[in-house]
Amino acid sequence: PDVHDELVKILKREGLMDVDVSLTHECLESTNKVDIKMTGCQGFCAQGPLMSIAPMGVFYVGVKPEDMEEVVEKTIKKGEIIERLLYHDPASGKTYVKRDENPFYAKQTRVVLKDCGTVDPASIYDYLAEDGYSALVKVLTSMDRKEVIDEVIKSGLRGRGGAGFPTGEKWLGGYKNPSPKKYIICNGDEGDPGAFMDRSVMEGDPHKVIEGMMIGAYAIGCDEGYIYVRAEYPLAVQMLKKAIKDCEELGLLGDNILGTNFSFKLHVREGAGAFVCGESTALTYSIEGKRGMPRVRPPRTNEKGLWDMPTVLNNVETFASIPTILSKGGDWFASIGTANSTGTKTFALTGKVNRTGLVEVPMGLTLRELIFDIGGGILNNKKFKAVQMGGPSGGCIPESQLDLAIDFDSLKKAGAIMGSGGAVVVDEDTCMVDFAKFFLNFIVEESCGKCIPCREGNKRMLEILQRITEGKGKEEDIELLENLGKMIIDCSLCGLGKTAPNPVLSTIKHFRNEYEAHILDKK
Ligand code: SF4
Repeated sequence: PDVHDELVKILKREGLMDVDVSLTHECLESTNKVDIKMTGCQGFCAQGPLMSIAPMGVFYVGVKPEDMEEVVEKTIKKGEIIERLLYHDPASGKTYVKRDENPFYAKQTRVVLKDCGTVDPASIYDYLAEDGYSALVKVLTSMDRKEVIDEVIKSGLRGRGGAGFPTGEKWLGGYKNPSPKKYIICNGDEGDPGAFMDRSVMEGDPHKVIEGMMIGAYAIGCDEGYIYVRAEYPLAVQMLKKAIKDCEELGLLGDNILGTNFSFKLHVREGAGAFVCGESTALTYSIEGKRGMPRVRPPRTNEKGLWDMPTVLNNVETFASIPTILSKGGDWFASIGTANSTGTKTFALTGKVNRTGLVEVPMGLTLRELIFDIGGGILNNKKFKAVQMGGPSGGCIPESQLDLAIDFDSLKKAGAIMGSGGAVVVDEDTCMVDFAKFFLNFIVEESCGKCIPCREGNKRMLEILQRITEGKGKEEDIELLENLGKMIIDCSLCGLGKTAPNPVLSTIKHFRNEYEAHILDKK
């Protein structure tokens, strides 16, 4: 905001900007004025604040308010490039003028993130100008409910929240349920350490999520929905609430939308940040105002969810994929990616890589391409050691598996999971026992305590890891960790417990020597 305000001040002083900053591009071209847009995340967050200047395509990184005089004088008035504001890539040693030439963007396929970093998230008109809500119009005016579901089934879209359940099938279950009252929920309770994909989409392109939800609501035959967002994402909450209000004012939410029989009410609910509230049954309890604790399934949320009504729940990225699928067709989406994992996936690429940020890649890309081509390889020319995929529920993948394709099934086979899309890279200096301990510590803090295997088992595992890293480990500790881990996976009530030991088990599998070194060397 401080860069934006400074730029507005200078442009107004120079007579280069109309007072009304919401002018359309066509209007600006004819008046030769400059328009400024505050957008959401462009992905290359570590280099922010970022500034894209159109139509030249110049891409500046790390801009500050004090740079704005020079930006206006040189780049905006004369078209000159300011070298020091360009991105200098430590991996290749090259400097990039345009955003899409930057290797961070070159291998990406942006479907969900297409407008994130381009549209003004606070302006419904900006979203409409990018064909926003055209998929909803198409659906409401020319497709029946079953046709919408068939298109989603054809796309092969699998839930992006972690489990990878086919979205079309889930919607079909909702569609077939004869209940007069159904709910649709968007899970925006992203809680993995290092993950910020859903947050960026909600902050940067909230209307895409809302449009996806409305299409889903129409398809399953429901008239009320909730977006559940953690309160630690205040900007996302603000943008979603603004987007909902703007939709209501334009008649895109409410009764008889676009003159059809479809009516839909949408609410935002803020969660208090408990990791377990990302689990579907805990999430619905939390919306009801109860303590967010998972319950035994069945019945599944699809049959008995919010206030005991059938409820279809998908995550932010899943809903944000829907408008493009309905606009371009299920076949188009299915042509991207692999046979069983179609489309694209967003990742928060973090850790010891040269280029970190929010990326979206076609399924089937290899981990090597993600980490080395997009991420630019390892910081300070260190050696790659592992990548933790899927957050605290995921697993570590070692160098020998760098050519693994990023898809639901390959990652599962390798002992990791897609999760919601966290990818934390570590280098040769990282102790994998400490790394696993970090994730387990998180789980112990976040366990809701309802079932003993998770509540007590993870604590015992953490104690063992603690003594190993303090040089007090015993020879039988590795076997003990493996046995405890398997028991927790088998006996825990919900997905949090069932996946909690993954970081420990996968590091034992691939980096057993590091556990042994701690125990035998007593350090
Ligand atoms: Fe709670 Fe853990 Fe049991 Fe899930 S597995 S219900 S988080 S104690």
